[in-house]
Amino acid sequence: MERAGSPQDPEKSTSKPPWRAEGLPGTPGGGRPKINWWRFVVTLLVVYGVFFLISSFFDSEPVETISYTEFTKQVTAGNVADVSSQGTAVEGDLKTAAKDPDSDNKSYTKFATEIPVFANTDQLYSQLIASGVKITADPVGGRGLFLNLLLSLLPVLLLAGLWIWVMRRGASMMGGGGLGGLGKSKSAKPVESSKVRVTFDDVAGIDEVENELVEIVDYLKDPAKYRRLGAKLPKGVLLAGPPGTGKTLLARAVAGEANVPFFSASASEFIEMIVGVGASRVRDLFEEARKVAPSIVFIDEIDAIGRARGGASGLGGHDEREQTLNQILTEMDGFSGAEGVIVIGATNRPEVLDPALLRPGRFDRTVQVGLPDAAGRTAILKVHTRGVPLSGEVSLEQLAKTSPGMTGADLANLVNEAALLAAKRGKDKVGSVDFADALEKLQLGAARSIVMPEEERVRTAYHEAGHALLGMLQTGADPVRKISIIPRGRALGVTLSTPDTDRYAYDEKYLRGRIVGALGGMAAESVVYDLITTGAENDLEQVTMIARGMVGRWGMSEKIGPLTVLSNDGQPPQASPATLATLDAETRRIVDECYEIAVRILGENRDKLDAIVAALLEHETLDEASAYAAAGVPRKGELVES
Ligand code: ADP
Ligand code: ZN
Repeated sequence: MERAGSPQDPEKSTSKPPWRAEGLPGTPGGGRPKINWWRFVVTLLVVYGVFFLISSFFDSEPVETISYTEFTKQVTAGNVADVSSQGTAVEGDLKTAAKDPDSDNKSYTKFATEIPVFANTDQLYSQLIASGVKITADPVGGRGLFLNLLLSLLPVLLLAGLWIWVMRRGASMMGGGGLGGLGKSKSAKPVESSKVRVTFDDVAGIDEVENELVEIVDYLKDPAKYRRLGAKLPKGVLLAGPPGTGKTLLARAVAGEANVPFFSASASEFIEMIVGVGASRVRDLFEEARKVAPSIVFIDEIDAIGRARGGASGLGGHDEREQTLNQILTEMDGFSGAEGVIVIGATNRPEVLDPALLRPGRFDRTVQVGLPDAAGRTAILKVHTRGVPLSGEVSLEQLAKTSPGMTGADLANLVNEAALLAAKRGKDKVGSVDFADALEKLQLGAARSIVMPEEERVRTAYHEAGHALLGMLQTGADPVRKISIIPRGRALGVTLSTPDTDRYAYDEKYLRGRIVGALGGMAAESVVYDLITTGAENDLEQVTMIARGMVGRWGMSEKIGPLTVLSNDGQPPQASPATLATLDAETRRIVDECYEIAVRILGENRDKLDAIVAALLEHETLDEASAYAAAGVPRKGELVES
């Protein structure tokens, strides 16, 4: 039984700047990034080209300088369309082109001339009026100068604009840092202030968590209101929950709702092998945040530095971790709350955190962010399909029902995969087939195109059919959603079972059923071939994990009793050798019993097993309905008719 894991958040693990910020007031601050000379030269050339084009546009027609005599001739001939004068300088256009008096084969329509001071301008004027010429007069140094000024300023303006653009791009590309990353602080600070801000509208399905944070939003919007009454708000909020459940999103939304700057960093990014760097980065970060307060500082994966001292060691040296942690605590103690910097931490392992972090005045409020339930998943799907054209038959409710255990990140990924598939298929709307295929790809893994020898295919079919049949026949087990003998990833075949409703706690019977189901592949191979292959490795890991948990953590063995022998954070067990021996024996007993059950049920239902195998060999993948139909087992919860 290959149970599908949660796909990882793709946004994580990209660049490693000390922190990121959004929503900073004013222009993106910070730093003088390196100049890319290539780009600079290209920019210069482009600017020059644009300038050249513009000026040639203005000078498109050559202006002929003519004598005053020639000018009066044209006026008398009634060939002048318009004139404009600036002092004694006159420019204008002819109605029809006249021959250039200086050279025979040229003509002109635009002309310029000077009026001699002794000329009779009154007469010229009445003549112009009489022949209906449009006359305009510019103040001396008017239009020409202005145009000239504009033209000469234009390249400078363009250059400045492009320069700023280049700088901004440079700044946002600096992130990677490379070798120069050590101890860099104020000098290289990637800032993306233009990023679209997130609000609570973008966070769905976790309303109760949102409600715990609205108070903070309110405070950030108007800190004075709270200060007047002497009310103290939590300085730190810890968001605890599995990866991909929207902790980062939520923190950004709080900042976005309150419209305050948001600084985010991953705790692991603070830590270098050199002692003291982390602490100085923390100091810098808080300094920046205080400058623009009220603001939010978000520290992801806080368990990377906030682990209880003396526990399993995390990243970097112990000293470095401790110093970084101490600096965070000092910063949090240091501000009285009046500054309005609120720290939001995120972790998926709150139980390993140093209690010092959770003391009053630090992260004194913990908010659990859990996996979304069916309604939550529907709401999240709605958010992520906002910009996606869906064809009419798509039911997000149905989709949410078939995706229990998926996080917000998984669902966002699902929508994206479905849209990609639809685009690849040349559709203009995303249909339910695309969603079904995307779900299969995410839950089961992408298919691998290898040719399996027939013998291997049949054996895989029996293995998967064994898992599936046990899932179908045991009451209370999760229904079988899909069986496939198409190789994916490292697995040769997959059987997917997911609960109908979301489960929060498991009883012993259910867990035993899970073990029986997981042993089903191996049991089927032994029933049919009387031998065991390596294909059951993952199954056995799962079996061991569940059985050990039942005995050592959940008090489901009478011999151990209701004791925690194994902790859930991978620390060495705290128990006497005798207890550990009992733990092993009890684990073995449970697994042996379950294996016997698996072999017995499969032996008794060999016909059903063979029927599923036949269907699998024909279709390779069976969905829920066809799998139950092939086995001739009524789908649980359905009334058995006929
Ligand atoms: P975490 O910080 O808990 O690991 P993220 O906040 O990074 O999770 O979530 C990753 C992405 O998953 C988000 O950017 C968002 O697209 C999606 N997502 C997660 N939870 C939700 C949710 N409750 N509503 C909407 N989208 C969500
Ligand atoms: Zn298996």
